[in-house]
Amino acid sequence: MKNIIIFGAPGSGKGTYSDEIVARYGMGHISTGDVLRSEIKGGTELGKIAKGYIDNGQLIPDELMIDILAKTYDALPAGQGVIFDGFPRTIPQAEALKKMLAERGHELGIMLELIVDEETLMARLLNRAKEQGRADDNEETIKKRFAVYHKQTEPLAEWFQQEGIRNTFTWKGSKELMLSEIFAFLDTQK
Ligand code: ATP
Ligand code: MG
Repeated sequence: MKNIIIFGAPGSGKGTYSDEIVARYGMGHISTGDVLRSEIKGGTELGKIAKGYIDNGQLIPDELMIDILAKTYDALPAGQGVIFDGFPRTIPQAEALKKMLAERGHELGIMLELIVDEETLMARLLNRAKEQGRADDNEETIKKRFAVYHKQTEPLAEWFQQEGIRNTFTWKGSKELMLSEIFAFLDTQK
């Protein structure tokens, strides 16, 4: 499979659909949120820095994220395609990803944009708070994350549009429906 960038607001289902896509097409998966949470759990220097930003609903500085991303990408087996989940989140991150891939003779591939209304997002994140107890899944921090998303991340959709790789999928109340639309599209892309 080509590389895939899965893009959407907090709680839009990036991680959930990524797992399904990996199961169907057998590719690598980089979730920057998961990478950061495991650094925090391990009590590393990076984890300590990341925690301050995450708990406050803010983004980790671009230079740090770009460095982490390149290291994680290079540790995966080449040639199977990778799904990028949670990266890029800013225009500099997108430019850096494009450059990093080009330096390796690889391409951005396909961008999948998930559109979900904010009421559904909030309900999902509050439910996840109960199930997984993530420190940033509380109403106050979620609101900050939505604001950061609108300001810093959403404008990137237009960047992908310019690259000619933006593909939008809108939530219509059913995960199965969303998945079947995504798979129907990806089946044409292999
Ligand atoms: P979802 O629920 O769809 O998985 P999310 O936005 O809730 O999305 P993560 O992608 O797991 O969650 O990210 C959690 C936090 O980690 C972000 O709020 C941010 O602080 C930090 N983070 C993750 N990826 C990046 C990135 N590319 N750049 C900067 N910060 C990031
Ligand atoms: Mg996630």
